[in-house]
Amino acid sequence: MASDRADLVVVGAGTVGGWGSYFAATQGAQRVVVVERGRSGMGASSRAAGMVRAQGGTPTTVALGRWSIDFYRGQLARLGTDSGFRELGYLIFAETAEEARVGRERVAMQKAAGVDARWLEPDAAMELNPELARGSFVGASYLATDGCIDPPRNVLAYSLAMQQAGVELREHTTFVGLRTERAAGGSKLTGVLTSAGLIETSRAILTGGPTLCEVGNAAGVEIPAGAVRHQVAVTEPHPAFEVVRQAMGFDLGAGLYWRLEEGGLLFGMSNPDEPPGPSREIDWEYMDKMRSRLERYLPVTAGLGLRKAWAATIDYTPDHQPILGPALTRDGDRIEGVTIASAGGHGMMWGPAVAKISADLALEGRTEVADVDDLGLDRFDEQGRSRLATDPIALPFPTEVTWSTPAPRTR
Ligand SMILES: Cc1cc2nc3c(=O)[nH]c(=O)nc-3n(C[C@H](O)[C@H](O)[C@H](O)COP(=O)(O)OP(=O)(O)OC[C@H]3O[C@@H](n4cnc5c(N)ncnc54)[C@H](O)[C@@H]3O)c2cc1C
Repeated sequence: MASDRADLVVVGAGTVGGWGSYFAATQGAQRVVVVERGRSGMGASSRAAGMVRAQGGTPTTVALGRWSIDFYRGQLARLGTDSGFRELGYLIFAETAEEARVGRERVAMQKAAGVDARWLEPDAAMELNPELARGSFVGASYLATDGCIDPPRNVLAYSLAMQQAGVELREHTTFVGLRTERAAGGSKLTGVLTSAGLIETSRAILTGGPTLCEVGNAAGVEIPAGAVRHQVAVTEPHPAFEVVRQAMGFDLGAGLYWRLEEGGLLFGMSNPDEPPGPSREIDWEYMDKMRSRLERYLPVTAGLGLRKAWAATIDYTPDHQPILGPALTRDGDRIEGVTIASAGGHGMMWGPAVAKISADLALEGRTEVADVDDLGLDRFDEQGRSRLATDPIALPFPTEVTWSTPAPRTR
């Protein structure tokens, strides 16, 4: 088996691994190799809806969204290309007095975390989107600087950035295990095993989005990262949506979101009752339910044809928060040199920040982007239950993940 060397090996060329490798290469790592079992972006990253918000449910997720939006805004100047970020503003609706009370508290937390979120009464929200049905909500939180990116363009942007930074991308190369040796308090990384041979290295970042649990299995690390079907569709154009700016919307109770897309409306939603597991088949019956829910908020969408629709497997974590921290064996021992990185199903809105943090942790062991001390694998028990409260602003992901027994391949 051929052997070579790298300063850092990144597993997975999705938005987390792609941007992570770029950040690492631009902050001192000499030889950065990305191994991707398929093609760059072929996981969740090219299939996402592109919703981006700093309206997080915790101070940390606000910080991740805020950092990522700043990054998207600065991309063109920094790299000569961008991920297509558009500022549209985002309304997150409350349908009951209790939801409004919780929403106001959330806005206060977000303001304290440094973003200019506001609570709006229905009339003020309808000024931002005149298509909203009066009576469908009692109020909404709003952040004018939230927006969206174009996910395929983001794949292009990080692929170009990787190339500019001298990152070596090896497509059709599968990560199959870690090579480690004993060290004080556990073990330390000496190499990464791939389908094309061994890469000697003392540093690795493991990503994998909806397949991160399997990547963990190959590494001998239990990672409670789940995968479940998520559906998105785009309506045909309509004059109501042929505008430059209109606030995006999130029906938080149902987990339905929408935004402008090429003169029509893009909308997406997961079925909360669906069991976890990968799937790319469209559930048309559920799509009809999504459409009815959308019509409740936006009656103008009734009868509009669909221009495209897709289903893809989205990643999630049991507490809807990212995973960032060192790899741990099943006995809880640290594998020195190995960093785990997951955006927990929010890779468009938190991806750049999660990627930057993973590079910081891999190279320097610390980060200034956000306080991630609580986001490591040590927050989960043997059943994958988190000791953190669930981020309240999220899709209705399942709260549990399906585990498969890790079969470590080390050599
Ligand atoms: C339909 C849909 C809509 C979404 N909408 C949004 C949204 O609006 N906003 C938002 O913030 N997020 C959204 N997401 C979630 C977002 O897309 C993901 O959180 C994000 O793309 C995850 O990025 P990643 O790099 O971790 O994973 P991926 O993009 O899945 O990349 C992981 C890569 O690892 C590779 N890999 C796996 N195993 C191995 C191995 N053994 N060896 C080598 N390579 C391997 C895979 O091939 C893949 O390319 C959506 C997701 C879906 C599916």
